[in-house]
Formats: sequence, C-alpha cells, structure tokens
Amino acid sequence: MGRFVYADNAATTPVSQSVIDAMAPCFASAWGNPSSLHSKGREAKALLDGARERIARVFACEASEIYFTSCGSESDNWAIKGAALRGKKKGRTHIVTTVIEHPAVLNTCRALEKEGFTVTYVGVDGDGVVDMQALEAAITENTAVVAVMYANNEIGTLQPIERICALAHAKGALMFTDAVQAVGNVKIDLSALPVDMLAMSGHKIHAPKGVGMLFIRKGVVIGNLIDGGGQERRHRAGTENLPYIVGLAKAIEDADEQLADMPRVAAMRDRLIEALTAIPYSRLNGHRTERLPGNVNVGFECIEGESMLLLLDMKGICASTGSACSSASLEPSHVLLAIGVPHEKAHGSIRLSISHETTEEDIDYIIESLVPIVARLREMSPLWEEIVKNGK
Ligand SMILES: *Cc1c(COP(=O)(O)O)cnc(C)c1O
Repeated sequence: MGRFVYADNAATTPVSQSVIDAMAPCFASAWGNPSSLHSKGREAKALLDGARERIARVFACEASEIYFTSCGSESDNWAIKGAALRGKKKGRTHIVTTVIEHPAVLNTCRALEKEGFTVTYVGVDGDGVVDMQALEAAITENTAVVAVMYANNEIGTLQPIERICALAHAKGALMFTDAVQAVGNVKIDLSALPVDMLAMSGHKIHAPKGVGMLFIRKGVVIGNLIDGGGQERRHRAGTENLPYIVGLAKAIEDADEQLADMPRVAAMRDRLIEALTAIPYSRLNGHRTERLPGNVNVGFECIEGESMLLLLDMKGICASTGSACSSASLEPSHVLLAIGVPHEKAHGSIRLSISHETTEEDIDYIIESLVPIVARLREMSPLWEEIVKNGK
C-alpha cells in the first residue's frame, strides 16, 4: 500500500480514539434524557454537567456561559441572528463583519440584509488582516454586533481580536468571533479575551461532525434561534446530543494539551512554506507569521488547483483548494480575491492543513510529490510556455 498523508485538517479531522472511548458509555449505558428526573436521566445529566464544567475550565469561563449546538454553522447563525434580533429592539439595525468570513457568517449577514438590517463588510490587507481603520469607521452607535473570525479557514491569518473587541465595545456593540479554526491551535482564555460570544465546532478538533458550542458571556442577552423545550437554560431547545457533547469536552481537553505541540507543527508548516515558495512563480497566501500553526496556502501561476489536488490524491495526499464548502463551485475563493490575488491566479492555489498527527516524513513526502507535480502541470500549460519564452 502506498503512503497516505492527510493534510486537510481545516476541512475536518478524524475522530480520535480518546474521544470515541469517552463517548462509548453514552451509547452503551448512559442513554437517558438529561431532563428526566429518574435515575437514568440523572446519570445523563451528571455527564452533561461534567462536560460543560470541563470545557469551562479549559476556556477559563463559567459553565453557565457554554451552550451546546449542532455545529459551527449553527453557532455562527445563532450569535449573529440572536444579536441582531436583540439589537433591533434597542434600535440597532447595523452589523459589521469582514469580507473573508466563513459562509456561515457571510450568508447569515446576507439573510439579515433581506430582513432590513444593514451590513458593512470590512476589507482586509494583502495578508488577510482586517483593515482596522475601516473597521473603526464602520462601527457606530447603530451597530448591534461586530463579527470577525479569529482565524481564517483558507489562509490561516489570525486577527487582532482583542483590539477589535475594544472598538466594538467603545460603541456599545456586541463582539462575536468565529473561533472554529482557532480552537486547538491557539490558546483561548475567555477570562482575558473580552469577546461577548465565541463559536467553535467539534469536527475540526477530532470530535464528531454535528456538535459545536457557542460561548455567551454572562449578562449578554441575545434572541433564540431554536425555540422549544427548556434545554440549555431555555436558549437552545432540543434534547441534548449527550454522546457528542461528552466527545466534544474530551476533544477540547485533548486539544488544550496538544497546544504544547504547536511550535513543532508551526516548524513543519514553515518548512513546507519554504520548500513550496522556492518554486518560481509561487506566492504564499496569508500572513507569514500571524498564521495558524498548521496552515499552508500557496498559489502557483499557470496551474489549476484542481489538477494539483487530483495528482496529489493519486499519491495518497489529501489537500484542498481552499475551503471544502466552496470547492463544489467554480467561483474563485472570496478570500483569495479579498487579499488581492487576481481572478485568473486565484484558481492555482492549494491549502495543506497539517496537525499534531503530521510527521516530518509526511512533510518530506508532500514536498517530493508536489514539486514534480507543479513542474509537470506547467509543462502542459500554454500559459507557462509563454512565461518561459518571454522570460517574464
Ligand atoms: C468549518 C467552519 C465552520 C462551520 O462549522 P461546521 O461545524 O462544519 O458547521 C465555521 N467557521 C469556520 C471558520 C470553519 O472553518
């Protein structure tokens, strides 16, 4: 069997054995409804409470500030729609976000525009860092919520979230961050980071797909997205997905321990970036240092990203052209366009997202596979022939 290298951890991650082990008793015996008053219910309730408390310990917040959801997308929708609903009651009908957010944020904002809200989409610089002057100018006394992602899922750029919080709060707006890519890669301390709301998702950190959470700081009131029973302190109805919630808690604890390993991951990232940007007519997408430790995104002129992916796949390497969410469309990535990559070059980028499971041998294998693939695809490209001929 050939080698297999999974370098698409920003799309999803395998469920770890420790998470599977943590979840197993919830299927086998602790299958009660946490809302039931009998012993079977109390057993489940104890596991639910325990999961919430363990997560709160990792993020340095209170257990009552954690709300379980079905995914990162739901958390994004709830935070923004809930804040908008609440803001409207106080006469705040404006939302500020950025042009590089995940579709779960961008399309939520677009949906709210149809409901009469106005949205300012703030631009970013060539590295993908939000334009702080434009952001400051955009936030007004009419702004209900400022939504800026902690780390970008395509190019890995980290945002100055603390400074953005200060700008939002100066105008009385709520501050929300989509930290789906950040959790497990950078330390998140909610006793120091003054965000009002923070979203995360299980399947990006080795828990199953279909579970996430929204942190809502004590005292912050937002509208509900899902009404029904009294679960999650009456703010998010639906019988709790106990196995996945217990799995999420375990994954968050494991991810917190693995933070110690991130300097090693970042060193592998840098080695990969160096090798790939040494190829002529290539470019690193995203910030060189203010970047997720596992994110590599490089563009190559005269090449289709999809062709690279197919050839890498034949070598047993799983990568991506950007985000799994947009790979089904032929539109170039909105993130690459936002950082100024020209339309015709935006198709030639690939994202390799590595993790603590990646080895130095994996990096060697990616480099020795990808370099000839780029050369081979360029040999077949008439555009490349032009470049070589003209010596541009
Ligand atoms: C994956 C992702 C989401 C969506 O999370 P799901 O659990 O897949 O709904 C939202 N934001 C970012 C930045 C992501 O990477």
